[in-house]
Amino acid sequence: MPTTRDYYEILSIERTADGEEIKRAYRRLAMKYHPDRNPNDPEAEAKFKEAAEAYEVLSDPGKRQRYDQFGHEGVRGQGAAAHDFSRMNVQDIFSMFEDILGGGGGFGGFGGGGRGRQRGVARGYDLETEVALSLEDVLKGTEREVEFTRMDVCETCTGSGAKAGSKPVSCPTCGGQGKVQQAGLGGMFRMVTVCPHCGGRGQIVKDLCETCRGKGRQARKRKLSVKIPPGISDGQAVRIQGEGEPPPQELSPSGEGVRGDLHVVVRVREHKTFARDGDHLLLEMPISFTQAALGAEVNVPTLEGHDKLKIPRGTQHGALFRVIGQGLPNLRSGRRGDLVVVTKIEMPKKLSTTQEKLLREFAATENESVLPESQGFLKKMKDLLGKGGS
Ligand SMILES: [Zn+2]
Ligand SMILES: [Zn+2]
Repeated sequence: MPTTRDYYEILSIERTADGEEIKRAYRRLAMKYHPDRNPNDPEAEAKFKEAAEAYEVLSDPGKRQRYDQFGHEGVRGQGAAAHDFSRMNVQDIFSMFEDILGGGGGFGGFGGGGRGRQRGVARGYDLETEVALSLEDVLKGTEREVEFTRMDVCETCTGSGAKAGSKPVSCPTCGGQGKVQQAGLGGMFRMVTVCPHCGGRGQIVKDLCETCRGKGRQARKRKLSVKIPPGISDGQAVRIQGEGEPPPQELSPSGEGVRGDLHVVVRVREHKTFARDGDHLLLEMPISFTQAALGAEVNVPTLEGHDKLKIPRGTQHGALFRVIGQGLPNLRSGRRGDLVVVTKIEMPKKLSTTQEKLLREFAATENESVLPESQGFLKKMKDLLGKGGS
């Protein structure tokens, strides 16, 4: 069954996300939930398929518009012919979106462009994992252990996919070339395509390796300690070069070539006291109306403890004050932003007799109309009603 969850929610993106953001979000999820990396985990497989469905609709402007307007019905109705990904097999989904999940783009395949990547050198997939940080971690920087699963070269067959004692043989269909020529447009021209028999490997394996069932790769867990620099923002990633996967088996059975990278994406948790605005921290600070009127020196919480702040006389509700240098460090310069304090003037809910008396005297100097004393007011009302009633 196709999913009933909101596509934007599945990809964790805003409804205004552009094509690039949609692509990035999908690629992230597809890598995270790829069944190769989550063996025997039906939940991961379901998430992988759900993400593909969301991507298929949101990456197509026409379908996206229908979805925005009519919801799931709009894209499942007659003619729209969205795939039922939940019934598709994972490999087919992967090939369907090969342009963004595999091949070029620094994501696997033969590297082109990018730092230090030479043409013709096979490169493995990049991987992604997440860490959650507090604002305190962002302030000081931190070191985290991350654990992820990657497809490494199978140790039993060293990547060939062949059972011990047997060797892969040259593919009879393509004669070991990995490519076949096909006539296109009734013989007008010839197209060279990947050999369907050996998948481009040029070799086929008759007796499969029992560890990897001929894939030449096996899922392995890896733990790494990752340094997160101070000042990092939610959604930014630390790239660990060469901790991704070895080149895919069809490109380099033994894994020779360049490993992909690991991207450690940072999620910054919400703080109970402070909100973040770039390098600045925002704090809503309750002060009493007398402090606001008369001025005061107040204690403000900071990420590291407390600081003093002078509130001048006549401070209004919502006034802004800066505690210089008590924000977060800038990722590049290390210079710290400010703590911006927004005042929130609180009125007393209860007044003592003395307080009320003083406030009434104060009110009398203002020529402003105030309600009469509550008790007296009620008594007068009762007197009035009593007289009228009998
Ligand atoms: Zn193997
Ligand atoms: Zn072949």
